Amino acid sequence: MKCVVVGGGVSGLAAAHRLTELAQETGEAPDLLLVEAGGHLGGVIETELRDGYVLEGGPDSMITDKPWGLALARRLGLDSELIGTQEQHRRSFVVHQGRLEPVPEGFQLLAPSRFGPLVGTRIFSWAGKGRMALDLILPRRDGDDDESLGSFVTRRLGREALERMAQPMIAGIYGADPMKLSLQATLPRFLDMERQHGSVIRAMLRARARQAKSAPHNANSQTGVSGARYGLFVSFRNGMQTLTDALAQRLPAGAVRLRTRATDLTRSGDRWNLTLEPGGVLEADRVILALPAYQSASLVRPLDAELADHLACIPYAASGTMSLAYREEQVPHPLDGFGFVTPSREGLTILGCTFTHRKYAHRAPAGIALLRAFLGEQALTGRDDAELDRLVREDLRRLLGITAAPLWTKIARHPRSMAQYDVGHLVRVAEMERRVAAFPGLALCGNGFRGIGIPDCVRAGEAAAEAIRA
Ligand SMILES: Cc1cc2nc3c(=O)[nH]c(=O)nc-3n(C[C@H](O)[C@H](O)[C@H](O)COP(=O)(O)OP(=O)(O)OC[C@H]3O[C@@H](n4cnc5c(N)ncnc54)[C@H](O)[C@@H]3O)c2cc1C
Repeated sequence: MKCVVVGGGVSGLAAAHRLTELAQETGEAPDLLLVEAGGHLGGVIETELRDGYVLEGGPDSMITDKPWGLALARRLGLDSELIGTQEQHRRSFVVHQGRLEPVPEGFQLLAPSRFGPLVGTRIFSWAGKGRMALDLILPRRDGDDDESLGSFVTRRLGREALERMAQPMIAGIYGADPMKLSLQATLPRFLDMERQHGSVIRAMLRARARQAKSAPHNANSQTGVSGARYGLFVSFRNGMQTLTDALAQRLPAGAVRLRTRATDLTRSGDRWNLTLEPGGVLEADRVILALPAYQSASLVRPLDAELADHLACIPYAASGTMSLAYREEQVPHPLDGFGFVTPSREGLTILGCTFTHRKYAHRAPAGIALLRAFLGEQALTGRDDAELDRLVREDLRRLLGITAAPLWTKIARHPRSMAQYDVGHLVRVAEMERRVAAFPGLALCGNGFRGIGIPDCVRAGEAAAEAIRA
């Protein structure tokens, strides 16, 4: 049975690896081909190791409460390569009126879980803080309709919570406008909090109390922690590409064809004809498209125009990073945290910045501050590297007081890489899944469907492999 996986990002690699595992489990020799249009495997995951630096051009972490990425890393024997974030710096900042303000302890993405730190913060006005507390008494919303994340936060916690905290946090993860982003498809746990406890804050207070009872040590170790749930993030000693390199190494010899683009997909009887450039037409029994949704759209259009229309409707935004290295004495700010995010109302170019040498150990030589600015569609569109360089350094001058020239900079651009899950996304996904099921031997995965994070992509890739084998 010949299986072809199209796309060599983490989704496609996870699918190809799972096919290899399944074949081995039944003692078969896998007949597998993975085709990748670019010159490297890993898609947006790209790590460069040079002169004592670990430079991430794409993702720098994966979350572990979605277990599929970690489980795969363990199956690949990468336990000893896994590293956690550095405990002593676990806090973050948000820009407010041109200054870095610490995210209040216990504030988790959208809402506070503690009142003391909230009262003391300068980020919100008294009226804004009072409005947030109203979440405790506001009635829950009826009905199951999807809602935008922005509407949810405004309704439960008020406009300030959205504009000064949720919007920049969300932009830092999804590069998206919260007024368009589907709550159900991105952060359903907050929706469950409202449904089950009638209030987001009450749900968080209860979760904290439960945690304090069951694991007092853990609850204490959350002291001083703010922003994302940093204890849940991991990376690899030599960066995220460790994962995709290890996956690639486990594939059968000769199973990967780089610089090969799939341009056409047709069905003849129960077999598939895939046109490759270069390479011509290839026959296969099973095909997995592990591509951005707009790429899958053009391949499936001759098979099912409606499926193609759904795929083409999923918007993708550009995303990018700019790494900058400074000698520590060139940076006036103590950089005493993992980084900051910037609300759009602050009018800055960057969406945020990670203090990379603080977040993970051994990312830069001693005495070096390694910063990584995060850039979205607006900042990247129509700007060349020289202009980006100037604008990012201007933001860092304003926010961190850095006037010195960096030792070097490196920009990584990922055009149309971040799927945007608009309101109603999950209904669209369910319809697409129904339509794909009408084509035995075809499966779709990638970051356009049920999660953009690495663990979600791993899960989707592995599920696609299992589905076509079945
Ligand atoms: C800057 C950035 C930072 C991120 N940070 C994080 C993070 O910290 N943690 C996290 O969990 N997630 C993060 N993400 C999200 C996550 O990394 C991605 O969603 C995930 O890696 C996407 O993997 P993929 O395989 O689905 O797609 P991709 O990585 O886009 O791979 C798709 C592949 O298909 C190939 N291809 C396209 N068309 C064709 C064709 N016709 N024929 C053959 N090949 C084709 C492409 O060349 C590409 O290699 C980040 C993303 C970006 C861009």
